Amino acid sequence: NADLALYKAKSEGRSNYHFFESGMDAALQQRRTIEAGLRLALQREELRLVYQPLLGLEENRVICVEALLRWDHEDRTVSPAEFIPIAEETGLIVSIGEWVLREATKAAAKWPGDVRVAVNLSPIQFKNRDLVALVKSALTDARLPASRLELEITESLLLAENDTTLTALHELRSMGVRISMDDFGTGYSSLSYLRSFPFDKIKIDRSFMADLTDRTDSQAIMEAVIGLGRSLGMSTTAEGVETEEQLAMVRAQGATEVQGFLFSPPLPPAALVNLLRAENKQGAERKKAG
Ligand code: C2E
Ligand code: MG
Ligand code: MG
Ligand code: MG
Repeated sequence: NADLALYKAKSEGRSNYHFFESGMDAALQQRRTIEAGLRLALQREELRLVYQPLLGLEENRVICVEALLRWDHEDRTVSPAEFIPIAEETGLIVSIGEWVLREATKAAAKWPGDVRVAVNLSPIQFKNRDLVALVKSALTDARLPASRLELEITESLLLAENDTTLTALHELRSMGVRISMDDFGTGYSSLSYLRSFPFDKIKIDRSFMADLTDRTDSQAIMEAVIGLGRSLGMSTTAEGVETEEQLAMVRAQGATEVQGFLFSPPLPPAALVNLLRAENKQGAERKKAG
């Protein structure tokens, strides 16, 4: 408890107070360092995308691939969980997000077959620029049909109540772009969002998957959300499938797609293309044989 720590530090005299203050400085300093680095990340070409396939359970093949951001900074790869929040607070997410969209659509245009690419969007991107125009321009430049793009939006963030966001979502959808609700079940208003906007896909947060095999309440929730998706005409992705047991369970419950380390981790671009090629070849051979 920070207040208590401050109170104690003060009551114990100046030296302790200083000690406490320099602890604060270190955290702030660390943040500022990340922020400064992030500002230069684009021009230094330190950002890259990795790609994680989503397996369609009925089709039994990859039907979509999610683009995930990585930042190679100094001697490590910084996780998006660490830098996306800072990018959002500083507004840097606008230019970074534009880069992601352009990079991912360009990559997808070169993939074998017709798998879709899923791009994560921050709600900030809806506020700061004409997102619809940006998406149109990225698709045109990449020569990618709108039907091959999915946009993932995390429901935990201030979506629906905002008219401009809803208008943009409807416009994107009428262009043929699909809209997914990401990390379903982690925010406060998951259900009311489903009512305010016709999502194409619900991605069930992996925290439900994590204890699926030993908690009956998680099983019940998973099953209910999959049923909800079905009755609303939305596909459902089970995130974070790591074991055969989990796969069998969500398959039985009727999830339409799975994503997780069991099938594939996020892959560098070339490895993803190899996976898609191998899969296409297999599919062609199966067709020939059958
Ligand atoms: P997300 O959109 O829910 O992405 C799925 C995350 O789950 C990814 O983490 C992925 O690596 C991880 N994951 C996939 N399968 C498994 C599994 O079987 N087990 C476990 N434990 N994890 C799995 P990652 O790449 O670290 O990304 C974290 C979050 O950062 C993403 O969550 C997304 O919200 C955000 N993010 C990533 N790239 C972007 C981006 O380009 N723009 C924005 N706005 N956010 C992004
Ligand atoms: Mg996502
Ligand atoms: Mg997700
Ligand atoms: Mg998630």
